Amino acid sequence: MSTLEADFIVVGAGTSGSLIARRVVERTDASVLLVESGPRYPRFPLDVPLAGLSLRRPWSWSHESVSQVQLQGRKVSFPMGRVVGGSSSVNAMICVPGMPQAFDQWREAGCDGWGGDEMMRVFGLAAAPGGRAPMGISEARHRAPFSEAFVEACVEYGLQQTPMLFGNTSNSCGWFPVFQRQGKRQSAGPQFLGDVRQLKRFRMLTRKDVRRVVLEKGRATGVEFFAGRKRVRAHATQGVILAAGALSSPTLLLRSGVGPADELRTAGVDVEVDLMGVGRNLQDHFGVPMVFQSTQPSPGRKSRWLLSALQYLWSRNGVMASTCGEVGCFLAVDQEIQESNIELFAMIQTNRAAQAIELMCILSEPQSSGTIRLNPDDPWGASLIDPNYLSHPQDWDFIMKGMNAARGIVHCPALQNFALTDEVLAKGRSDRELIAAEGTTFHHPVGGCCMGIDQQAVVDPCLRVQGVERLWVADNSIVPAISNAHPASLALMIGERASDLILAES
Ligand SMILES: Cc1cc2nc3c(=O)[nH]c(=O)nc-3n(C[C@H](O)[C@H](O)[C@H](O)COP(=O)(O)OP(=O)(O)OC[C@H]3O[C@@H](n4cnc5c(N)ncnc54)[C@H](O)[C@@H]3O)c2cc1C
Repeated sequence: MSTLEADFIVVGAGTSGSLIARRVVERTDASVLLVESGPRYPRFPLDVPLAGLSLRRPWSWSHESVSQVQLQGRKVSFPMGRVVGGSSSVNAMICVPGMPQAFDQWREAGCDGWGGDEMMRVFGLAAAPGGRAPMGISEARHRAPFSEAFVEACVEYGLQQTPMLFGNTSNSCGWFPVFQRQGKRQSAGPQFLGDVRQLKRFRMLTRKDVRRVVLEKGRATGVEFFAGRKRVRAHATQGVILAAGALSSPTLLLRSGVGPADELRTAGVDVEVDLMGVGRNLQDHFGVPMVFQSTQPSPGRKSRWLLSALQYLWSRNGVMASTCGEVGCFLAVDQEIQESNIELFAMIQTNRAAQAIELMCILSEPQSSGTIRLNPDDPWGASLIDPNYLSHPQDWDFIMKGMNAARGIVHCPALQNFALTDEVLAKGRSDRELIAAEGTTFHHPVGGCCMGIDQQAVVDPCLRVQGVERLWVADNSIVPAISNAHPASLALMIGERASDLILAES
């Protein structure tokens, strides 16, 4: 076995991991080893918004859920990013930091320093319009006629149009801001690591899958991974920061012997710390696609790619600069609850029908939650991911109300020209059947290593893993309760907070 050494080891060069690695290097004299499972970030095709979204599969994990009871036993796939920049390198670039009040609830639950004001402040350090922060935020460059008409229809339906749809007010609609600069994707990889890569104190290893964190006498002292067939142990003098994302950080803790003791024993893993919350409270934005036949051809259809590519090369504009979902709205569909509980995400095209648009009707604050567990028959293989969609009755109620609201908007006068009457996927199915047959992830998993102050908490409000010294988790797995925020924004906020908290202890 060969050995490497650094002061800090960060696992995962994703959205929050890239940010944290940069902050440690720029604010201290410490050395950092960043270990990433995927390859380096390829500017082409991922920089080009629509091309990157269409061709992203080789840079994605092939995680899959277990059969979902409420979804006719279907499995759901999670193509999270497996490349430097993590999911920010393959995602749809939508920037929704969400409702500040949602973070106030984290603070009220005992997580001091995690309230709305603080989270919005740190978000501004990581991402802002113009050149003020590493991650640029822009208005959508491409504006499809359908997107314009959708926003008008939402206003006719009674929603308030906001200049940029950051998701911070209920019953609002508009154009989504995007993580783009001059029509190009902003991935956390190049944005945070670009100019620290030359420093001798910083080292990044790509295509290295971390297997577990090494714990010695209750302290994290390094990580273990394979380089080809050789087992390598990297030693950390100051600590290990897990930033492998909501689907991988819980697995890494479990494989390291930190988790529910009975479950670890069943999988044949030695118990280091009996921590019942590891792998619990996995949450996700569940959505149902609603596809409407349209009279207008899709602007991004493949037959026009050559023309669109030339336009993009010439002006960094046109449909290639689009994220496909340009507009949307946040709706409160329940009389009792004022906050938005449904998001509609309006896509200018769909791969489900040649000439159609797709509305994704999404639960913003689902009540259902699930688990991530080691496979007892193969603890080093794929974990058992169970989001347990629609296990809470309120989720059924709200998603059906959301679908009715979507139909109400589609039939508003502003969308008459598109004649969106024929609902392709709904044919002959009740809404319940449609949801069960077509409902799926909106690719926003959070939780699994939740932050808090109770017995279920995996990390405390300083992101320290309970019962282990010098081990932190700092990615979307720490989110204690899902909200309408989109998780790339969350991962940036968590990365900034984590950097402050970890460096305060060093
Ligand atoms: C298709 C898609 C579209 C999306 N669209 C949006 C959107 O428009 N807006 C939005 O806000 N969110 C979106 N998301 C979600 C969002 O991008 C992610 O939730 C967020 O970026 C996650 O950040 P993270 O830092 O927690 O994890 P990630 O950014 O996923 O980073 C985790 C990193 O750890 C690495 N890793 C994992 N396991 C190991 C291991 N064992 N060893 C070494 N490295 C490891 C991974 O390869 C990855 O690079 C989308 C996601 C997908 C998949």
